[in-house]
Amino acid sequence: MALQIWINGEFFSKEDAKISVYDRGLLYGDGIFEGMRCYNGKVFRMEEHLKRLWESARSILLPIPIDIQSMAKAVNETLSTNKITDGYIRLIVTRGSGSLGLDPFETSNPQVIIIADHIALYPKELYEKGLEIITAATIRNHSAALNPRIKSLNYLNNIMAKIEGLKAGCQEALMLNHKGDIAECTGDNIFLVKEGHLYTPPADAGILDGITRKAAIEIANEVGIEVSEIALTRHDVFTADECFLTGSAAEIIPVVKVDDRPIGTGKPGPITQQLLSKFQELTRS
Ligand code: PMP
Repeated sequence: MALQIWINGEFFSKEDAKISVYDRGLLYGDGIFEGMRCYNGKVFRMEEHLKRLWESARSILLPIPIDIQSMAKAVNETLSTNKITDGYIRLIVTRGSGSLGLDPFETSNPQVIIIADHIALYPKELYEKGLEIITAATIRNHSAALNPRIKSLNYLNNIMAKIEGLKAGCQEALMLNHKGDIAECTGDNIFLVKEGHLYTPPADAGILDGITRKAAIEIANEVGIEVSEIALTRHDVFTADECFLTGSAAEIIPVVKVDDRPIGTGKPGPITQQLLSKFQELTRS
């Protein structure tokens, strides 16, 4: 059976799952989304993802046409219809279609789309060997322009940096904020380890407040590793003992080289490995 996509309460096969070319999600990136993981038939931290989706919606003044409970039910229904127990869910809400003008209040038909699919992970060997990344020249969106805490459909900022990374032969790229401090990577949050202490940029550094980031902080606290959410510079990255990224798709992935500087020993470090295995226990249990 072809993959079934949920659109506004109905299932359509992948080929027939379509929305208008006048949709503002397409015309302007006017909408929001979430990316979630499902392990053993259970969506990891769905409540937190839905809370973030609703917060993104409030921030851009987008009325989501269904309530949180119905959304959660629809997500689970999409997974069961597609018989997916371990996979990835993409939840999208666009502002809908109107005329070609900018006025967002001309439209009143937000589109809610749920896609459940299997996930294309980074190759397993990257989790063992670690990633090499570069710093992109493209800075992360200024919070006063388009706050990175809004998970909006406009990801061009991240895509520009991703292009820089890929052109340099790297799967991820580090983005700085307008102050020149470390923000995050194009689709992942960043952590450093120095002398047994964990560091990550604060939520107001111009980052998406990642749900995997929060899980990593909780795991660190549980195993007695202290965590500081403070402003960090590239110097802190270059002189760190360990570095790793977090994200729903990537989970926890070690970084071993940044801008050609080996991080620590140039191999995934012990704290990264400890947090990665605890995270896997948490999600697979
Ligand atoms: N930063 C950005 C820009 C992202 O798009 C994502 C999600 N892919 C993350 C961080 C990680 O967030 P989460 O752990 O909630 O998936």
